[in-house]
Amino acid sequence: MRILVVEDEKEIADGIRAILFKAGYEVDVLFDGITGLTYIRQGNYDLVLLDIMLPGLDGFGVLSKVREEGIDIPIILLTARVMTHDKIKGLDMGADDYLTKPFDAGELLARIRARIRKLHPDNMDRGRVKAFDLTLDSSNYKLLCNDKEIKLSNKEYQLIEYLMINKEIILTREQISAKVWGLEDESEYNSVDVYISFLRKKMKFLRSKAEIITKKGVGYSLEGHD
Ligand code: CA
Repeated sequence: MRILVVEDEKEIADGIRAILFKAGYEVDVLFDGITGLTYIRQGNYDLVLLDIMLPGLDGFGVLSKVREEGIDIPIILLTARVMTHDKIKGLDMGADDYLTKPFDAGELLARIRARIRKLHPDNMDRGRVKAFDLTLDSSNYKLLCNDKEIKLSNKEYQLIEYLMINKEIILTREQISAKVWGLEDESEYNSVDVYISFLRKKMKFLRSKAEIITKKGVGYSLEGHD
């Protein structure tokens, strides 16, 4: 899961990044509305935490553009203001939820989980993703199958999660790279192939009947039987 945080107060942004990273999410942080809008349009995020008071284009401006353009990504607004008027305005404009600063880590994570569960109700259940005979546990970065389990690195975790949520769908290497490596400079398509091979070895160790299939010249998909 990759979350975009648009928040100009650096301390708050860093705090949110740390909380989300510890909970197993990939996080990119941007500090202004125009750049935020540009990245939301690229479509590589599962959820956006959007501050209202931003330099340039404010959170309401970003939100209205995004919804006008028919982008239905979940957006949780962040604001220091406790005014009911703002809350109603945000929800009317198509925000999914609302958090008033300061909020604690537990509340933030609960709101995010609730939104993500709505997106993927079929194969997500309390921090666990299931596909075929595989179960992914977000609380400890473990992949489980039958009665075996194996620990995953952060990138392996992000990659198999993306494949499991989109099982039987071909994902291009560009999509995978953007989702797992995001804004990181070292993002390279060949890391995708390397990490796919790590995952295949781990799935073999687990004796999973699911398989990551290579679609030549296109990308990868997770296939198997339920
Ligand atoms: Ca702000």
